[in-house]
Amino acid sequence: MHEFTPEVEALAKEVLAYSLERLKSDPPLDGPRTAEDLFNEVGNTITTKGLGGQKALEVFTEVLAKACISTDHPRNLAFIPSAPSEFANLFDLVVGASALYGGSWQEGAGAVFAENQALRWLSDMAGLPKSAGGVFVQGGTIGNLSALVVARAEARKKFPNVKRFAVACSAEAHSSIAGAANVMDVDVLKIATDADGKLQGGAVGAAIDELQASGEVRVFAVVATSGTTNLGIIDNLESVGKAAHDRGIWFHVDGAYGLAALCAPSVRPLFNGVEAADSFIVDPHKWLFAPFDACALVYRNPKLAKDVHTQHASYLETLQDESWNPSDYAIHLTRRVRGLPFWFSLAAHGVDAYSEAVEHSLTVAKQAAELVRKHPNLELLREPELSIVAFTRKGWVKADYQKWSDKLLADQIGFIPPSSHDGQPILRFAIVNPWTKVSDIETILQTL
Ligand SMILES: *Cc1c(COP(=O)(O)O)cnc(C)c1O
Repeated sequence: MHEFTPEVEALAKEVLAYSLERLKSDPPLDGPRTAEDLFNEVGNTITTKGLGGQKALEVFTEVLAKACISTDHPRNLAFIPSAPSEFANLFDLVVGASALYGGSWQEGAGAVFAENQALRWLSDMAGLPKSAGGVFVQGGTIGNLSALVVARAEARKKFPNVKRFAVACSAEAHSSIAGAANVMDVDVLKIATDADGKLQGGAVGAAIDELQASGEVRVFAVVATSGTTNLGIIDNLESVGKAAHDRGIWFHVDGAYGLAALCAPSVRPLFNGVEAADSFIVDPHKWLFAPFDACALVYRNPKLAKDVHTQHASYLETLQDESWNPSDYAIHLTRRVRGLPFWFSLAAHGVDAYSEAVEHSLTVAKQAAELVRKHPNLELLREPELSIVAFTRKGWVKADYQKWSDKLLADQIGFIPPSSHDGQPILRFAIVNPWTKVSDIETILQTL
């Protein structure tokens, strides 16, 4: 079964040919089909004797792959899309062929060493001390949860008698914070932003003091977002971090999307204050040109995370020495070395290329905002702080936005699902793809 037979060799050629073609040519947008429709075409693919590699590959390439929207299409500006570099994608093939285990230093030392250098780059840009460190987890959701669990453990040490804890964040914080709170069975203290949509330290301090005055609930972490997923707004990290630390509370920065721009000199000052974070996350699969799925989770003091997250079992004790075991820093055990495609691309291209690519998105976002402002039917919601451009279409109600979006995808022009802000429907371009050109934006705007 494991032999590299001529049949496997032939399949390898086909797999590589398909992968290379996918990398070389502009991907089609494609789009979803119903399960019923797909079943009618491919039937049940799980059979007693197996389809054989070639047939199974054909089912995928000819039918199933085409029922998946290309997240790296230059006019896919939905949610936060993805734009892995060719190098990162190619190296993912190497990772896939290598059966690397990324949970422990003993088994994956070389790979973990490389992942840690990539984490170091992010941590250094944020201004955390050399002792900082962490791990690549599946996504920002797991990253936020893992960090908050450590934060709560710290609070429990300080306040062993407190029965109820809460995490504080803005109303614009990502849904994963509420998700983490639900899993952890803690409350969420939602704090209003200022008129500009930013969380400010003054409001954070006041809200925490008011909540804690009753003596029943304690805030164990303050989460600042940099920037928000919907509009790309960066909270005032300096004042929010200070409000947290003045009260002895953990300061976590959720930069799943925006902290990528730490490497962009033109906006770096917007992140001032991140250096005080007790933990932060950033997803290389969003705006750092890595394939799914990779979130960099970094702790100021990784020892605190290790104390909380290390799993203990008789057969695992052999791994427990002073070496760096990635499993010890989040809610997971077995893990693929998901930071390696990011590392390879970063190592091969160098960090200047990353700065330039992120700056490019920022420039295209500014130009897109300008085009929206000039458009007779559109109203720009706000100047983009990072690379999300949000706007409304005059005279449209929610159904009109959805109809337009559906048609845009059906016509294979672009993928831009409607969102909302303050209860009003909006459209947004999330620009993270270096291949998204101003002409792509113009093409979309012509349909509005
Ligand atoms: C995307 C996002 C997340 C969640 O990250 P996943 O990788 O999708 O789990 C968390 N926070 C913010 C601000 C995000 O934009």
